[in-house]
Amino acid sequence: MTSISSALKRYLEVSVLYKIAAGFILGVIVGIIAGDAMSIIKPLGDLFIRLLKMIVAPIIFFSLVVGAASVSPSVLGRIGVKIFVYYIFTTAVAITIGLVVANIFQPGEGIELAGEAKQIQVKQPPPVSEVILNIVPTNPFKALAEGNVLQIIFFSIILGIAIAVLRASREERIRRSGETLFTVFEGLAESLYKVIRGILEYAPIGVFALVGYVVGIYGPKILGPLAIVVLALYAGLFLHIVLVYGILLRIFGFNLVKFLKGAADAMITAFVTRSSSGTLPVTMNVAEQKLRIDKRVYSFTLPLGATINMDGTAMYQAIAALFIANALGIDLTLGQQLAIVLAATLASIGTAGVPGAGLIMLAVVLDAIGLPLTDPNVALAYGLVAGIDVILDMGRTMVNVTGDLVGTTIIAKTENAIDTRGGVWA
Ligand code: ASP
Repeated sequence: MTSISSALKRYLEVSVLYKIAAGFILGVIVGIIAGDAMSIIKPLGDLFIRLLKMIVAPIIFFSLVVGAASVSPSVLGRIGVKIFVYYIFTTAVAITIGLVVANIFQPGEGIELAGEAKQIQVKQPPPVSEVILNIVPTNPFKALAEGNVLQIIFFSIILGIAIAVLRASREERIRRSGETLFTVFEGLAESLYKVIRGILEYAPIGVFALVGYVVGIYGPKILGPLAIVVLALYAGLFLHIVLVYGILLRIFGFNLVKFLKGAADAMITAFVTRSSSGTLPVTMNVAEQKLRIDKRVYSFTLPLGATINMDGTAMYQAIAALFIANALGIDLTLGQQLAIVLAATLASIGTAGVPGAGLIMLAVVLDAIGLPLTDPNVALAYGLVAGIDVILDMGRTMVNVTGDLVGTTIIAKTENAIDTRGGVWA
C-alpha cells in the first residue's frame, strides 16, 4: 500500500510537461511493438476524452463570469470598447494567418485515418443572421446542459457585468451581495482550474493510450504529419508577431524590437508556464516597469486579455482543426474555413488562461464544423494533437500574452497613458 502511495507521490512530483511527452513517446514505442493489440487499452484514451468534455461548459461559464465581474463598470466605457475591438480583430487575423499557413503546409494530409471517415457529413454553416441570433440563449440552463458554447459565453459575460455593477453599488447591502457572489464564482473557477490540473495528471496515460492505439493500428508513418503541425503553428505565430504586431506598433509609432525587449520577461514566463493567467503578475510588471504604461489602462486590459484574448490559441485551433479534417480525408470548403474563424474566435474567448485549456476548447471548434469528438476517428486524430500539445501550448501561450501587451501599449498611446521617453523606449 505504501509503495503504491509513494509511487503516486513520485508521479505527481514530476512536471506534467515531461509526463505527457513520456506518454507520447512510450505510446509510439509500445504501439510499434504491440500493433493491433493496442485496441485493448483504447478505453484509457476514451476516458481522457470524456474527462475533457466534462470540464468544458463549467470552465467557460465560471471563468468568464469572474473575468467580466472583475472589471469595474466605470472603466468599462471607452477603454473597454477600444481594447475589445483590438482583441477581436487581432484574434480573427491570427486565425486567418493560421488557415493560410495550414493550407500551405497541409498538416495531416495523407494520414488516411480511416476508410469510413468520408462518411462524416460536414455541416454546412447556417446563414450569418441565424448564427448571430443563436448566440442569445432562450434558456441559459439548457445552454449549459447542452454545452452550447456561444450561448454560455454570452450569458456568462452578461451575468459577470451584472455582478460587477452590484460590486460597484453605493448601497452597502447590494455591494455585499455582489462581493459574495464574486467570491463564490471565483472559488468555483479556481476549483475547476484544480480539476483541469487533475485531468492533466491523467493526460499522460490518456495520451499514451490514444497515441499507442493509432500507431499500433496505422504504423509509425503517422508521426511525420505531427511534426508538420508543430512547424505550421510556429511559422504562423512568427508571422503574426512580425507582421500583425509589428505593423500595428509601427502605426502607433512604436518599434517592434524595443517592444519585444520590454515584453521578453512576460513572453518567456508564458512560454515555460503555459498559462496566461499564471503569467499575469509578470505581464503587469513588464507593462509598468519596462513599457511604462499607466496602471489605469493595464490594470483593466491585461486581466481581461489574459482571460479572453488568445491570438495564439485561436491560431492553433484553426491549424489543429484543419489537421484533423485532413487526417480524416475531409476537404473543408472556404465556407467551412470561415466557420472555423467564427468558432475559433469565440472558443479562444472562452478558453481559460491555464495550461492545456486550448486543447479542451478545440473540441468546441471541431463540434462547430461538424467533426464531433463522439466520432471515433475524430477522437483518434484529436488524441494525436493532444500528444504534442505541450509543444504547441508553449508557443501559443507566449503569443497570447504578447498580444495582450501589444493591445495595452496601443490603447495606452491613444489614452495618453504611456511614457514613451522612459523604460525600454528611451
Ligand atoms: N495555455 C494557454 C494560455 O494560458 C491557453 C491554451 O491552452 O491555449 O494562454
